[in-house]
Amino acid sequence: PVRENSKGWDLTAVDHLEDIETAREPFRNKRFEAGPLIAGDAQPEDEVERLNPADPCDVVGTTRFASKADVETALAAAKPWNASAEERSRILKKAASAYEENFGEIFAVLAREAGKTMPDALAELREAVDFFNYYAEEAKKLTSEPLGRVACISPWNFPLAIFTGQIAAALAAGNAVLAKPAEQTPLIAHLGTRLMHEAGIPREALQLLPGAGQVGAALTSDARIDGAAFTGSTETAQKIKQAMAENCHPGAPLIAETGGLNAMIVDSSALPEQAVRDIIQSAFQSAGQRCSACRCVYVQEDISKSFFEMLMGAMDAFRPSDPWYLKSDSGPLIDAEAHGPIADYVAKAKAEGRLMHQIEAPDQGHFLGPALIRVNSISDIEREIFGPVLHVATFKAKDIDKVIDAINGKGYGLTFGLHTRIDDRVQYVTDRIHAGNLYVNRNQIGAIVASQPFGGEGLSGTGPKAGGPFYVPRFQKAVAPKY
Ligand code: GLU
Repeated sequence: PVRENSKGWDLTAVDHLEDIETAREPFRNKRFEAGPLIAGDAQPEDEVERLNPADPCDVVGTTRFASKADVETALAAAKPWNASAEERSRILKKAASAYEENFGEIFAVLAREAGKTMPDALAELREAVDFFNYYAEEAKKLTSEPLGRVACISPWNFPLAIFTGQIAAALAAGNAVLAKPAEQTPLIAHLGTRLMHEAGIPREALQLLPGAGQVGAALTSDARIDGAAFTGSTETAQKIKQAMAENCHPGAPLIAETGGLNAMIVDSSALPEQAVRDIIQSAFQSAGQRCSACRCVYVQEDISKSFFEMLMGAMDAFRPSDPWYLKSDSGPLIDAEAHGPIADYVAKAKAEGRLMHQIEAPDQGHFLGPALIRVNSISDIEREIFGPVLHVATFKAKDIDKVIDAINGKGYGLTFGLHTRIDDRVQYVTDRIHAGNLYVNRNQIGAIVASQPFGGEGLSGTGPKAGGPFYVPRFQKAVAPKY
């Protein structure tokens, strides 16, 4: 009752689209500049160019990464935000407004640096704003003390929303934040940090240290760090956990949100048109670069033939293109390092006769045509493929338990989708599947702050869920329960 999620724009309304285009235009060819934003003199590394992943001729800007000396300066200068909870809350809400006011620049950087289509960029801005406003309210309910210095290490796939969400939660709890954004997306992180500083968050409480993995590693292996939030691969989370265990005090928590090998089950009672639409969104929107994305669909054998035909038809209507254009359905992969292994994976499936369908994508930048690959079971999928690749399998109704066991057997537990019109089956399957976010008769991406807290179990993360009531308190010292 105290807050509403941000409303955003209606991308079907011509006047809204015109407003967006007008606001983005000045930033279409601008060369952005980024670097460390710390409470002291920065001595960063040499400048490097950032290229648009959809168009390598477009130099989006330059960044200078934080040096070892910058990490040291930032750690020495970091001071928990000692304003009252009311004041922190007020300033976080001001930062939310600053993000909203600067939508044109934000949309432009998200498209050019991170390959975000307009719907994705809009969803991302709204999620960031929702995180600010939600955590600002949560700040007023806190009962303990901040952890101290918190490292926030964020990914390139939600370079504004997750970057902002981690920071806003740690700041809401009164910590000093040392933020290390993904090396692929320093420009949007720089813009977000600048807006947060302008809104009144003190420099000592929020410092930006752009860079590659070494910068994050320097932070999480430093005894002065009292906690860390990380979103990225399971493997990196395990390394961070190890480094913190060896170097930080035993009470320093790691809040990790990692990968997934997310499945969907479609039974013969499902509405095929709806299931197909939801699969296309879940697997191919954002070029499949979401940890929530659907990686494997099990379709009941009785309907599988016509269902797969329909799915391939829907793929043919899906148009990856330069995300700057408002009609683009999906952008490129983030960079060549991401593209190479996924293209090889699809080529291998093709050579083995398992590629059922692949659609065209632009022949420039790091585009990859969405692909459909046949498997017998999710157990055949070795690892999370972080791109527009969907595996499909069939199952017989009597084997539903085997399917559930195979899905759980992968050890992840992030999202899961189910399409059925049988109520008992909803109950049966959702009772047994291990996943943080279960979606029934809808797509399985795009969790909404506060109403759908997001996070998984097992190899998918530690919890607590982002955008939920247990998240901000985790950035404070644990309080002993009163008996
Ligand atoms: N929260 C996002 C979603 O629900 C996914 C976050 C991620 O990919 O890390 O789609």
